[in-house]
Amino acid sequence: MSAAGTLFVVSAPSGAGKTSLVRALVERTEGLVLSVSHTTRPPRPGEVDGVHYHFVDEAAFLRMVEAGAFLEHAEVFGNRYGTARETVERELRAGRDVLLEIDWQGARQVRAAMPAAVGVFILPPSREELERRLRGRGQDSEEVIARRMAAAEAELSHYAEYDYLVVNDAFAQALDDLSAIVRCHRLRTARQRRALAGLLAGLVTGGASAC
Ligand code: 5GP
Repeated sequence: MSAAGTLFVVSAPSGAGKTSLVRALVERTEGLVLSVSHTTRPPRPGEVDGVHYHFVDEAAFLRMVEAGAFLEHAEVFGNRYGTARETVERELRAGRDVLLEIDWQGARQVRAAMPAAVGVFILPPSREELERRLRGRGQDSEEVIARRMAAAEAELSHYAEYDYLVVNDAFAQALDDLSAIVRCHRLRTARQRRALAGLLAGLVTGGASAC
């Protein structure tokens, strides 16, 4: 049986503003939940276990891999990240839309496992702006910046594997674009047929069977 909710997969190079956009989208969209990934990366200041990530050690992560508990998992910048299968499937079955904020390797695995998933790639408005954002407060060495740019380029090279491209130039516009993608998928006939079953039954009785 197909899932009742839609799975959205959002990827972007760091510096594209993905995290803030996704947070704002989930906040403004009823029935859309953000999946909390597992990671072996140590928490950054301000990050809360179970909210930003489920922070686990290498052994626990590998146990989950062996148990087949991940819908997808990948190594990014030397740390492991994965999406717990059960949580995502439970939300989708309950009719909620789920958003995964993951890298291109994970997105590829999700597409293979769940072809109905909708892929969205967020682009920075220009190379100069990307570099400016990656420079941050100007406290990092040129070598660190160059490494960040190379990683961003590697992620960007996969944009064509996604269904939608959103440019994050003006935040509000990019947020509206993301909202439009979600709204559009909620209006698809396959989805509306469930939501509007009563209306459709009343409207097409007799007429429908005559065709
Ligand atoms: P950060 O450590 O900065 O939060 O994330 C680093 C990268 O890992 C980002 O590109 C982010 O999208 C990706 N990432 C976060 N969670 C997951 C996940 O569950 N699976 C995969 N494949 N990538 C993830």
